[in-house]
Amino acid sequence: LSDEAQQVLQAYDWLTKLYHHLLRYAKDGKEGYQYFKDRGISDDTADLFKLGYAPATANFTASFLEKKGFPPQPLAKAGLLSVRDDGSAADRFGGRIVFPIRNHLGKTVGFAGRTITGDGPKYLNSSESELFRKNKILYNFDLAKKQIRSTGEVVLFEGYMDVISAYQAGIKNVVATMGTSLTESQARLLNRYADTVIICYDGDDAGIEASYKAANILRGTGCQVRVANLTGGLDPDNFIREYGGETFIEKIIKASDTYISFYMRFLKKEL
Ligand code: ATP
Ligand code: MN
Ligand code: MN
Ligand code: MN
Repeated sequence: LSDEAQQVLQAYDWLTKLYHHLLRYAKDGKEGYQYFKDRGISDDTADLFKLGYAPATANFTASFLEKKGFPPQPLAKAGLLSVRDDGSAADRFGGRIVFPIRNHLGKTVGFAGRTITGDGPKYLNSSESELFRKNKILYNFDLAKKQIRSTGEVVLFEGYMDVISAYQAGIKNVVATMGTSLTESQARLLNRYADTVIICYDGDDAGIEASYKAANILRGTGCQVRVANLTGGLDPDNFIREYGGETFIEKIIKASDTYISFYMRFLKKEL
């Protein structure tokens, strides 16, 4: 890794701890804590995923990092800070809940920040860099891989909250693509650990279309593919919260379609 990447890695480490600490224990993080509470996330789950909150206070993060002696340029390049017109650094995730994105070693290499007020885009991500390659990383792979190996199966979701909800419900062989379409390199990674990939994307048109594409990429790398069938506009997180983990396993995972029957229904536009 370059010196810059090392610095960014260190900054992520500090900020992961800081944002998580604020969420769990500080007045500054109360809005974030309440948001996760309202979505059914327990303290243990927040600790495990190091979920955090970046305070909305102007320059909170920028001045924290400056005090720690981090030069702002590499951090801005990594998308951790943003740069104002006058060249000064400003916070990028301020006022958002923060999901640390971990590499296979469990180190934070990127953040996703979700709005809790509806302002701006729903999610903001760190920028692409040598450290953070979105098309190579699968969210939660580091925690899931043991269970993927032992079961031979992996459940593939779209989003962070799907993974976190499932994991909290005891379903641990779960990863997510973070919204982008599945890449060949992600498919090869899954194929090294699992025989069967169960695609479990959102039950909307975009999710069905993306399932079809992901299924073909996975089959190209030699994976067996099944496709879950979520209806009623629910995503996996909604479903698990509504009906619980056991019903999710019975009605969604075990009842998933084989690739062939998914493909037939896809062609007949029955989905
Ligand atoms: P939530 O339950 O918090 O509303 P979600 O995961 O259900 O989030 P979706 O809209 O289904 O959100 O998107 C799936 C995934 O796509 C997200 O988890 C995120 O990784 C990614 N994503 C969504 N919107 C954006 C965005 N505006 N910019 C970048 N990534 C995004
Ligand atoms: Mn979606
Ligand atoms: Mn969703
Ligand atoms: Mn959701």
